Amino acid sequence: MSQDCIFCRIIAGDIPSKKAHEDEVVVAFHDINPQAPTHIVIIPRKHVSSLDALVPEEDGAIGHLVRVAAQIARNEGIAGSGYRLVANCGSAAGQSVDHVHFHLLGGRAMRWPPG
Ligand code: AMP
Ligand code: ZN
Repeated sequence: MSQDCIFCRIIAGDIPSKKAHEDEVVVAFHDINPQAPTHIVIIPRKHVSSLDALVPEEDGAIGHLVRVAAQIARNEGIAGSGYRLVANCGSAAGQSVDHVHFHLLGGRAMRWPPG
């Protein structure tokens, strides 16, 4: 846990969040500033600063996270229409929280390429 990481503080329960899923490996909660009708942030419990800092030890957690994302999409009713799973890495991509996270977005049509 990193004391100055917002997402570690959400995991610890110090910052409130609306949880969509929680297990021993990952936590998922509704984004505070949603960019789609459904916008859920999914994070590993272990603090890793970005995709660029992942090591092989994290492979199992990230694989689990992706499968959980698909399950959450089904639970939230967006699997049938379609959804996007996005991870921003670094400043050019707009990463604003330095704890690896994936955005699950759905409930509206998505454009491609993303901005
Ligand atoms: P990114 O900009 O890709 O790093 O994504 C970080 C996301 O975390 C943004 O979409 C924020 O709206 C979201 N966020 C920041 N603080 C909170 C919070 N306390 N609860 C829920 N979502 C948050
Ligand atoms: Zn963290």
